[in-house]
Amino acid sequence: MNFASLITCSGGPMKQSHASKITLSAILPAALMAAVLPLSPATADPVVPAPAEVAAQSVTMDSAVQIASKKIQRDPGKTDVFVNRNYPLSPKKYAPKTVAVKGTNVRLKSSAASAYSKMVKAAAKDGVRIRAVSGYRSYARQAELYNYYTRIYGQSYASKISAIPGTSEHQTGLAIDVGNHNRACGLQACFANTPVGKWVAKNGHKYGFILRYPKGQESVTGYSYEPWHFRYLGTTLAKSYKNSGAKTLEAYYGVAGNGSKNNSDKKSKGTAKTTANLNMRSGAGTNNRILLTIPRGKSVQLTGSKKSGWYQVRYSSKTGWVSGTYLRDVSMPSTTKKKESSKDNKPKSTQSKSAKTTANLNLRTGVGTGNRVILTIPRGKQVAISGSKKSGWYPVAYAGKSGWVSGQYLSGFSDSAPKSKSQKQKSSSKAASKKTIANLNMRTGAGTNHRVVLTIPKGKMVALTGTQKSGWYKVKYSSKTGWVSGKYLR
Ligand SMILES: [Zn+2]
Repeated sequence: MNFASLITCSGGPMKQSHASKITLSAILPAALMAAVLPLSPATADPVVPAPAEVAAQSVTMDSAVQIASKKIQRDPGKTDVFVNRNYPLSPKKYAPKTVAVKGTNVRLKSSAASAYSKMVKAAAKDGVRIRAVSGYRSYARQAELYNYYTRIYGQSYASKISAIPGTSEHQTGLAIDVGNHNRACGLQACFANTPVGKWVAKNGHKYGFILRYPKGQESVTGYSYEPWHFRYLGTTLAKSYKNSGAKTLEAYYGVAGNGSKNNSDKKSKGTAKTTANLNMRSGAGTNNRILLTIPRGKSVQLTGSKKSGWYQVRYSSKTGWVSGTYLRDVSMPSTTKKKESSKDNKPKSTQSKSAKTTANLNLRTGVGTGNRVILTIPRGKQVAISGSKKSGWYPVAYAGKSGWVSGQYLSGFSDSAPKSKSQKQKSSSKAASKKTIANLNMRTGAGTNHRVVLTIPKGKMVALTGTQKSGWYKVKYSSKTGWVSGKYLR
């Protein structure tokens, strides 16, 4: 088996015939995500009177109470089984009975397979050709993949693109990765803007499928945006989910997100203490919904995100925002873990620069409209600026992706923070880049005996990390780091 030809989502592996098309999703730390967290439901958390941060308006009742009473299905044999990192399959090595999806090698449970075929037919009527990319995957197969990614990228990153064995939805036989018939944007964020990506996102629920890892919900689902991964829930539940307005299945069931639940992440978390009964809200500001009230004197975990004086915190298995005015002993989390996967390490002492989009704005892989569109940022959204301007374009992070946008459509720059040393260093290190003069394999080590991570197309700029060995360079490209032969760099 040639691992290099496999891509996985938290989900499934995929064979691609064109190595040059392989681009794994860029992963950025939750700290960079502008996303507003989904509503957490009412819980048994203590309701303490007279919170210090008093909202102008009273709490509005909503469906949250109902949500809280939803039963979480743990039986892996049931269509509504709930699976994520915190809710592994039980038994761990559960193996369903599966059938091949009509006309493919992809296997699913028969209920999901026939629903899927129905969906394919309906899409075809609209002129949209859905391709089945990956379905059921066994525990053993998942273990193989997960170990592979861990070896290459380290556990922290691997766990964002690949499920830990026993926690993959694909093991239930109820999840499928879909693609376009012509493979456009296969397993990439830009898939969302392709005919199949759009059609399934809009219509999938009618056939019982929901988009399981949405954009902007990475900190809740624990996975990068996967517009191709659909989970079969049956039509009743899928419609109920869609109608609930919940952004994730986690939110729908009222369970905490699992974006950074592993122990190594916990160690790097910061903490603070509340100095008053303090409202935790769904966003930074009193206009956001109250999720719960944290009693005075409690310790909260800081996620590392801060916005206009508000901190994103975890408390009692909920994540939300609190006013920094009522926190003391604030120690922000160390960012060492995140640095490996982010081009965007901002200096700890300064707040990140940001701006607002003044139009629906394409985020591209490089400077100029000749580069591929990663996604379209809606007008009026806040984006994090991650480096220095180049020919009028800015490097930005949005919804867990990073890329370039035209500065013409940005306004409201909050760049008052003085340029720190590390920012200067960063821009100078940015200059250290070279161009590929051929389709060039990036490998896990210096030499052709190492595994291929991805193939960098000819004519692309790669960032040099400064490490060099026997004529090979350690480079960064498309949020991956690996080794390429210096012979093909200019
Ligand atoms: Zn998947």
